[in-house]
Amino acid sequence: MRASFVLLPGDGIGPEVTAGAHKVLRAVARTYGHDFEFDWRPVGGIAIDEFGDPLPLSTLEACRSADAIILGAVGGPKWDDPDAKTRPEAGLLALRKELDLFANLRPITAHRQLIDASPLRRDLIEGVDILFFRELTGGIYFGDSSLSEDGRVAQSVMEYSVGEIERIVRMAAGAARERRNRLSSVDKANVLEVSRLWRRVAARVMSEEFPDVDYEVVLVDAMAMHLISRPRDFDVVVTGNLFGDILTDEGSMLPGSLGMLPSASLGEEQPGLYEPIHGSAPDIAGQDLANPLATILAAAMALRHSVGLADEAAAVERAVDSVLDSGMRTKDIAAGGKFFGTEAMGDAVAEAVAGSAA
Ligand code: NAD
Repeated sequence: MRASFVLLPGDGIGPEVTAGAHKVLRAVARTYGHDFEFDWRPVGGIAIDEFGDPLPLSTLEACRSADAIILGAVGGPKWDDPDAKTRPEAGLLALRKELDLFANLRPITAHRQLIDASPLRRDLIEGVDILFFRELTGGIYFGDSSLSEDGRVAQSVMEYSVGEIERIVRMAAGAARERRNRLSSVDKANVLEVSRLWRRVAARVMSEEFPDVDYEVVLVDAMAMHLISRPRDFDVVVTGNLFGDILTDEGSMLPGSLGMLPSASLGEEQPGLYEPIHGSAPDIAGQDLANPLATILAAAMALRHSVGLADEAAAVERAVDSVLDSGMRTKDIAAGGKFFGTEAMGDAVAEAVAGSAA
């Protein structure tokens, strides 16, 4: 199979972790007989330095014609000037908007080898495997907002249309079918009119199109508690932008290691955008200390959701598992013990992929 990837390393540790994902994708291509093309493009702070624009047109156009986009991270102190005309993060927001990436997927997986890094007790966290679908381009972050003339009253409007709700619920329910066949929709329908519409539309989509998927609704305040008290009970969770922002950050604390968590942003059409959830970590940039596994796992998501290579995606995930099983750790997950560098970790996963064939 032929597939084209745009790689956007960005700033800080971005280039180091993206190099890890590149190595692993090349190993997948060699091992499973695929032809992958890679096109490296600037985004974020480095693109501001070079082009005065965090998302240069040439980068955007390359992204549009790719099958999948893999991004390291953007931002850093160099570009933090509050008076600056533009910021690195603007490049990422513009990319999501230009490609209409309305669904943000965040898997929350407790890797069994790292259970002790979790702030939760082993019996609560063991076996946790949740896939969040957060609506990314609507809701309160994009509704009208205003501040009264005297500066004493402000408002932000949370708005969702039937079409916006249908498409994210459909995508989440489809993913549930490929997993453990359970979908939880999170809202605040006891208070918000917009949530009552969300609930009605979600219920209709589920009964008409996914009657085989086990479906439940959960209020967002209750969900905040359930995520801590019984996280293992959830499979796929779908929710709006604001609730998803808060719940996915809460969820990302469960495995206890930022360097392990990937995410994907998808639209109705390809390409999807795949990235680690962490930032550019300027404190460790350029020191071979970053954990590349989140970006490598993001590349696995790209294989599954954009390239149609689910078996190869699973092979990458198993390779990560086997490297962790071997005891290899980067500094952030080494719990003060012996640790390996970013490059060595990427090499080890690539080798494990190569050894996974046949
Ligand atoms: P951060 O995620 O970059 O770092 C938080 C802490 O986690 C740091 O101590 C860092 O060293 C550590 N860390 C992060 N990723 C790691 C990895 N892969 N391996 C080992 N340790 C890791 O968050 P921050 O410090 O709040 O932000 C730094 C910069 O990143 C800022 O400019 C921010 O705007 C930007 N940022 C970018 C994105 C993105 O590109 N999507 C997301 C969040 C923050």
